Amino acid sequence: MWDVSGKRYLDMGGGIAVNSLGHAHPSLTSAIHEQIQKLMHISNLYYCQPQSDLAAKIVGLMGGHGKVFFCNSGAEANEGMYKLARKFGSKSDTEAGRYEILTAVNSFHGRTLGGIAATGQAKIKAGFFPMCDGFRHIPFNDLPAAKAAIGDKTVAVMIEGIQGEGGILAATPEYLMGLRELCDQRNLLLLFDGVQCGHFRTGTFQSFTRLLEGVPGGEHFKPDAFSMAKSLGGGFPIGGIWINDAHADILTAGYHGTTYGGNPAACAAALKVLEVIQQENLADNARQMGSFLKSSLQDIVSLFPEVIKSVRGTGLMIGLEISKSAFPAELGGKPSGHFVQKLHDNGVLAVPSGDYIVRLLPALNLSKEDASTCIEIIEAICADLTETSADENLAAQKALEHL
Ligand SMILES: *Cc1c(COP(=O)(O)O)cnc(C)c1O
Repeated sequence: MWDVSGKRYLDMGGGIAVNSLGHAHPSLTSAIHEQIQKLMHISNLYYCQPQSDLAAKIVGLMGGHGKVFFCNSGAEANEGMYKLARKFGSKSDTEAGRYEILTAVNSFHGRTLGGIAATGQAKIKAGFFPMCDGFRHIPFNDLPAAKAAIGDKTVAVMIEGIQGEGGILAATPEYLMGLRELCDQRNLLLLFDGVQCGHFRTGTFQSFTRLLEGVPGGEHFKPDAFSMAKSLGGGFPIGGIWINDAHADILTAGYHGTTYGGNPAACAAALKVLEVIQQENLADNARQMGSFLKSSLQDIVSLFPEVIKSVRGTGLMIGLEISKSAFPAELGGKPSGHFVQKLHDNGVLAVPSGDYIVRLLPALNLSKEDASTCIEIIEAICADLTETSADENLAAQKALEHL
């Protein structure tokens, strides 16, 4: 990417986990171009070919199971899942039944009124009280807490496979398997917000598949529904929900809908993204580049623990934990923000999350060369930050300019 002054950047933030084929991928731009020359919008009164093809593709990725509903964003996709859960738990069209959805502390589910109520972070709710009724937060990865929280109004549990805004925290296999069993026992829907961690970012279509690799019985794990958006369209706005066969006919026509959902151009874009990911083996690339980045960053952690305390993540969803002491306290602000600014100054885009985590969410077709450049720059920044005096900083800055 280049900014208005012509400065060049390596985009390791990927538009916050959106640009999964990078910027201006020729196959993606031409797929969108071709589609908008034919048909840019019809209504949801009709099917159109790209929409059906995309739904079939997603159902295929889920082993031929379920149905898909398309919308326009992540928050909206999650709204669809809240409605699925409420309708599932309702007594009748005018009487509530079970409606409460348990979500995780530090989760992020979007910015609609339902989304901020579902989100387990006070800063997202601030200024918008009263919250919508029917959401309660449970500590993430704590199965006994989930079990204890279930009440007679509870109808669903919803989690991210890997918390994104919460700082790249993955659900443990025990938690995933345990929640599935618990939801089955208590007749609750198990809902996954796959908006950030989905669409092959972790090396499999959905993160739970990757997280459960090698776990006995893990290959049979499926949530009742999951949401999609962000990289689904590679930068073209689209969201969606997949719902399993058992619950696919709860939200029938008349109960849910959206004007733009299933837009032909958006669906053609998403279809092409999924095709390119498969043709170019980008799921494998996400695994390989992810483990290369992670192990290189691990080396940096052992060299400069006073700057980067730890690194974690799965595939191309990586979090660096910036040390509290990496920046002088008198600077104020957040270490994550300061580190992202350093990266930015040195030509790398990344995304902060919370006070201490810096996220790398690059394109799935990231090359080894670009990954190496990113590592070199991070290492140089760490070296620069460990030189305490201002004069020494200048020399390190000079070295950086040569990279
Ligand atoms: C970004 C995000 C959302 C919200 O998606 P929007 O398209 O911004 O509405 C929801 N859930 C998760 C996990 C996200 O990362």
